[in-house]
Amino acid sequence: MLLTALFVLASALGARAQYPSLDQEPACRSLLPTAAGGPRPQNPDVAVLRFLGVANYELAYRDTVVLLDAGIETLSWWEPSGVTPEMMTKDVDAILVGHAHGEHLWDAPYIGEQTGALVVADPIATRWIRGTGRVDDARMKTVKGLGGETFRFNGFSVEAVLGHHNIVPDEYMQKDRAAAAAVALKGGLTPEQQAHDRRLGGMVPTTPDERTRLITEGTIAYFLAFDNGFTIFYTDSAGPTTDAERRIMQGRPNVDIGFIPYYGGELAIPITMDYIRLFKPHVMLPTHHDGHRNRMLDMPMGPLGLAIRDEFPRTTAIAPLLRVPVCINTATRELYVGN
Ligand SMILES: [Zn+2]
Repeated sequence: MLLTALFVLASALGARAQYPSLDQEPACRSLLPTAAGGPRPQNPDVAVLRFLGVANYELAYRDTVVLLDAGIETLSWWEPSGVTPEMMTKDVDAILVGHAHGEHLWDAPYIGEQTGALVVADPIATRWIRGTGRVDDARMKTVKGLGGETFRFNGFSVEAVLGHHNIVPDEYMQKDRAAAAAVALKGGLTPEQQAHDRRLGGMVPTTPDERTRLITEGTIAYFLAFDNGFTIFYTDSAGPTTDAERRIMQGRPNVDIGFIPYYGGELAIPITMDYIRLFKPHVMLPTHHDGHRNRMLDMPMGPLGLAIRDEFPRTTAIAPLLRVPVCINTATRELYVGN
């Protein structure tokens, strides 16, 4: 019995030793998303998170790849991400859509069709996805985020949680855009770029009623609970925080990774800090902090980072560059950010 136990222990140690250190994981040294053919993490404890613009991130864990939002194609006035929807042809297990605004959604039907991914979205987004005819009903799940909507993957479960769309006043955003335009060095867009942007901008039409309902009923956050206790919270619009989000945190002291919204210039920090206080992430990765070149000013990360450090000195806030792997060992919480 003792010998057997020793053998099992030795095997476990041996198995652990065979995996590369975090900084030597091929997936943590590559800028290529796994969905586009990049390496998967070899260590079954390692999760690789990759920023793909706006609020889009990829999660690769074991044999599973999940896209958080699917607005991969970029408008001409955005910083190109270096990834196109056509590249996302490998196995994608699920696309978790935050809400029915184009930059979170417009490539979900195409990538869903290319990869056979399960597409999870709110009722407004699924109405549009269904209309494209690209994703079978069997591969689409409509969620409202009010409890009990859980999806199982290899080593973790995902629960849909009702979020809230940002309510930054239009007047404020117009001032932000005007200020950005006034200091922009870049020239205007070519007719081709304008046509490209018009096509993408009009791709996901919503009715006036849907635009209203989207704010309180159509924004879905996702809570990922790993079998080993590791947790991730993701939301792609800047709230405020909701009862459903408070419910999912009941009995939990914190999450390990928080994909936390940061949107709306100087109005954003107090809202983002409400999320930080609720989720208390060990590692905070921002969503929708994208600077919309020429039209909106970049979201400065410094003031937010200082506010987080003052109140939560043990939270690590990272704004990763596009496609850079953020690797975390879900068992040990060791963190490595590639370059
Ligand atoms: Zn939106």
